Amino acid sequence: MFLRELTMSIDHIKGAGPASIQALANAGILNVAGLISRYPRDWEDRSKIVPLKDFRTGAVCTLVRVLAHDWFIAGGSKTLKIFVEDETARAVLVCFNRSFMDKQLLVGNYYRLWGVFHYRFGEIQCTNFETEAAPKRSETEDAVPGKQSAFGRILPIYPLNTGLSQGMLRKLIHQALTQYGGPLENELPEHIRNRDGLFSKADALGAIHFPESLEELETAKQTLIYEELFYLEILVGRRGMERRNALARFGKDRTEGTVFRPSPLQQRLLDRLPFSLTAGQQEAVADINRDMDYPYPMARLLQGDVGSGKTLVSFLGALRIVEQGGQAAVMAPTELLARQHAENAARLLEPLGIRPAFLTGNVRSSGRAALLKSLAAGEIDVVIGTHALFSRDVVYNNLRLVVIDEQHRFGVVQRQAILAKGEHPHLLMMSATPIPRTLALTVFGDMEVSVIRDLPQGRKPVRTHLARESNETKVYDFVFNELSSGRQAYFVYPLIEADTNRSLKDAETMAGRLAGEVFPQFTVALIHSKLDEEEKRKIMEYFRKGEIQVLVATSVVEVGVDVPNATCMVIEHAERFGLAALHQLRGRVGRGDQQSYCFLVYSDALTEDGKTRLKVMLENADGFVIAEEDLKLRGPGHMTGIEQSGYLILGMADPVRDASRLEQARIDAFSMLEKDPSLSTPEYQCVAQVLNRAPPFGTVGL
Ligand code: ADP
Ligand code: MG
Repeated sequence: MFLRELTMSIDHIKGAGPASIQALANAGILNVAGLISRYPRDWEDRSKIVPLKDFRTGAVCTLVRVLAHDWFIAGGSKTLKIFVEDETARAVLVCFNRSFMDKQLLVGNYYRLWGVFHYRFGEIQCTNFETEAAPKRSETEDAVPGKQSAFGRILPIYPLNTGLSQGMLRKLIHQALTQYGGPLENELPEHIRNRDGLFSKADALGAIHFPESLEELETAKQTLIYEELFYLEILVGRRGMERRNALARFGKDRTEGTVFRPSPLQQRLLDRLPFSLTAGQQEAVADINRDMDYPYPMARLLQGDVGSGKTLVSFLGALRIVEQGGQAAVMAPTELLARQHAENAARLLEPLGIRPAFLTGNVRSSGRAALLKSLAAGEIDVVIGTHALFSRDVVYNNLRLVVIDEQHRFGVVQRQAILAKGEHPHLLMMSATPIPRTLALTVFGDMEVSVIRDLPQGRKPVRTHLARESNETKVYDFVFNELSSGRQAYFVYPLIEADTNRSLKDAETMAGRLAGEVFPQFTVALIHSKLDEEEKRKIMEYFRKGEIQVLVATSVVEVGVDVPNATCMVIEHAERFGLAALHQLRGRVGRGDQQSYCFLVYSDALTEDGKTRLKVMLENADGFVIAEEDLKLRGPGHMTGIEQSGYLILGMADPVRDASRLEQARIDAFSMLEKDPSLSTPEYQCVAQVLNRAPPFGTVGL
């Protein structure tokens, strides 16, 4: 059995009751494999007793004797203080709201104590602690992890969801390992495990949850990290191989730098545009056209900074497919964005005799049935929508191209679901969120990348200004002038409505203030995620038409919205937004030929850290540079848009942090595939079996 084959339900685990099964299900843990794969997010080392005098090392486990109880008044209520000592020092436990502790920690007895101590008021103090009666020697020796003592060992700390507790996860995971962990098969070839001193699968899982020592924990981590990266690279390598083989059979070599030769339909669209394509757009379309000539489905990532005109490129790709009798689906992460694309498609494609359609979860049932019928009958050529595009009841006649806009917003599973609606359709993923090279190589190892480096002609770089909150009237005056000369503006806030705890401005209150006091001559509207779709649609439509001049918003306008006449972007409490979000927001202006402005309004009490971040926005216009800076400031663990969803969801490994392991895994995986593409030699057989019986991530990347 491989771990992923443990698909039996949780009720097979002894001690799992209905409440815990339900709580686990709510957290997405549906079977034994899922339970065992719930790795700890941290570990507390309670294995060693630390002398009290060394309290400064952080959270420590101590063994103390209780000396005395004492009571004092804190905040009007009687509070218990417990004096303890070991051979090295004395300390005080301050029991806020825990006056019952005097019955638990008895004077003269010994206890184990876990907590963080501070030196305060001339004493070593601890306010937040866990205790346990010091066990007799024999008990420590056979304490079963997950069952008895929380002391005397390294304790796993799990990520929790509602209804889950540490104790429950520890108990159930321990039981699951006892029942099913032992005979688990290895997924890594033995020669690699031996070379790197890695654990067997069973040992690695045992030790990741219940390590006996920190060394053991480290080896367990290394084993699981390497295993994930290895299979990632095996999949990447194998896909690359399949494509190369297909191309070889076709007797063609991949030629880069093909010249741009528009197909007849593409040419007709270009003829109707009031502008010509940028060099970057031309190259991207050339790449796509060439890919579509090959016998293997295209897998291309189109990167281009905000405003570089990716949508048009994808429409040109769709035209090519329609010419060949196929259908194209364009998927966007929000209804707002999908609708905007659909409107553009209607404007640009319908005059060419192409039949576009718009499909989201909100399209009403009668219309929806008719739409689905035409889609299945092939009477619709290009369908644009949200994830509704891959709902169960959506059937395509001949889906040949899938375009995923803002692709980092979609998870691997969603990407897979839409692709499954066709028979090996071409895939074009688009994103303005750049990913670091290392990661691109890993996840998109065999994927082609087109980059649009230039912006359309006539675009003037957005002028960015920082402004203190106390200077906001200057900003408002400036915007007033812009509005007076016929332009439009966005005002963005971190909150939708007033929050009693915080002194932040919110969109709702500010919409009222801007409409009533600041811009009474102009039409101000409010848009945020809580409005219903129809309302959002109307507001966007009026804003696009210029009937609304000031759009007050939350970050719903962050992605993709395109209104070229809007020249001002005012972001209040700018320090509350991530750099990637600020860059996206700023990208909403500067989309026409007018000079545009972005004001980052920050609180008067801005921290140093906040200043550094806002300065990055002031000094850089290039999304790639901003992403790199973001990475430096925040550290790789927090890469925007990557950890939340799309690129790669692994368990233990972090392709950025573990870059060197990744490199090694790549070498190992690729050399194996090169030596023995079918992986049939005995030493590779476990890899072949994993791929056949329990494929590691479904499909990564694609
Ligand atoms: P993004 O790459 O951010 O998705 P869009 O596709 O939304 O950018 O395009 C931004 C704006 O630029 C749109 O209004 C689009 O019509 C316009 N545009 C696209 N290509 C060109 C071009 N070659 N010249 C001028 N404007 C263009
Ligand atoms: Mg876009």
